[in-house]
Amino acid sequence: MKIGEGLSTGRFSLSFEVFPPVREGNLGNLYKVITELSEYEPHFISVTYGAGGRTRDKTIEIAHKVKEEYGQNVLAHLTCVGSTRDDIAAILDELKDRGIENILALRGDPPEGEETFTPVRDGFRYANELVEFIVSRHRFSIGVAGYPQKHPEAPSFEADLLNLKRKVDAGADFVITQLFFENDEFYRFRDAAIKTGVRVPILPGIFPLMNYKQFLRIIDLCRPTIPSRLGEKVERLRDKPEEIEKYGVEFALEQSVDLMENEVAGLHIYTMNRSWPVKVMIDEGLRGLLPADRLRTPPGGETKTTKT
Ligand code: FAD
Repeated sequence: MKIGEGLSTGRFSLSFEVFPPVREGNLGNLYKVITELSEYEPHFISVTYGAGGRTRDKTIEIAHKVKEEYGQNVLAHLTCVGSTRDDIAAILDELKDRGIENILALRGDPPEGEETFTPVRDGFRYANELVEFIVSRHRFSIGVAGYPQKHPEAPSFEADLLNLKRKVDAGADFVITQLFFENDEFYRFRDAAIKTGVRVPILPGIFPLMNYKQFLRIIDLCRPTIPSRLGEKVERLRDKPEEIEKYGVEFALEQSVDLMENEVAGLHIYTMNRSWPVKVMIDEGLRGLLPADRLRTPPGGETKTTKT
C-alpha cells in the first residue's frame, strides 16, 4: 500500500524503523524483531540504507522480505551517496519489480571525516533532485527527511524549511523527522513547515535511548537539544546501562503521549532492531491512546519484555 494514500485518510500512523545488521549472523535476530513488531500492525516498517550506500542489496532484500513474508507495508530508504543517475535508475527498477511501493528519498551524509557532501559525477547533490528523478521514473509514494532543529549543514532554520518545501514540491507526500527530545521544537517545526507551504503529513521520529555511548554519538551526529532533566539523568546513570535503557524508554513514552495529545499524524519509532522498548511503550501507555482498531493484543498477553 502506498504510505501517502494511507496517511491522507487521516488515520493515525504507527511505524517502526529497522536497519540491515552489519553482521550476516544478526539477520536472524532482525527477522525475530520484525515478527514481534508486526504484531502491532504498524502502518509500515522502514528499512534504512547504510551510510555510503553500503547496504544497497541488503536493504532491498530485507524490504522485500518484510513485505512478502511478513505481510507488512514497507518503506525502503535510498540515498544519493556514491550513486550515479543510472545506478539509482537500476535500484528504482529493482524496487518496483520487487513490489516495493514506498521510498524514503535522502541525500545521505558525507563520508566520515568530510564536512561537505560531494556528489559523484552524474549523481545528485540534494534530496529534492532525487525526489524529482524518482517521480520521473515510477509511481512510488515518497517520503523525505525533516529536521525540527534544522539540518546541521543548513545556514538557518528558515533556509532548511524552504529546502524541505522543495522536496515536497518535487513530489514527496510525507515527511519523517530526525529524532528529537524536546517536543516544543517539533511543534515549532510543524507550525513553521505549514506556514512555509509544506502541506503533507509530518511523522515525528521517536528514539528510545539505549546507553551512554550511544547518547554521546547521537549528540555528535544529530545535535538534538537535550532537555536538562534528560541530560542530568543520563549523566547520573552513565555507568548503569540497564537504568539508562529503562529511563530511555520511559522518556520516549512520555514524549509520545504528549505528541499524541497534540494531534500528530503518527509516530515513527527508531527501534535500533529491538522490539522490547516498543512493547513497553505500547503496552504501558500508547495502547490506551491509539484508536481501538489500531492494535490488537499480541499473543501471550500484554507486556512480555524479553529483550529483543
Ligand atoms: P537534503 O534534503 O538534500 O538536505 C541536506 C542539506 O542541504 C540541508 O542542510 C538542506 O537545507 C540543504 N539543501 C537541501 N536542498 C537544497 C537545495 N536544493 N539547495 C541548497 N541547499 C539545499 N542516512 C543514511 O545514510 N541512510 C538512511 O537510511 C537514513 N535514513 C534517515 C531517515 C530519517 C527519517 C532522517 C531524518 C535521516 C536519515 N538519514 C539517513 C540521514 C540523512 O541522510 C542525513 O541527515 C543527510 O545529511 C541529509 O539528508 P537529506 O535527505 O535530509 O538531505
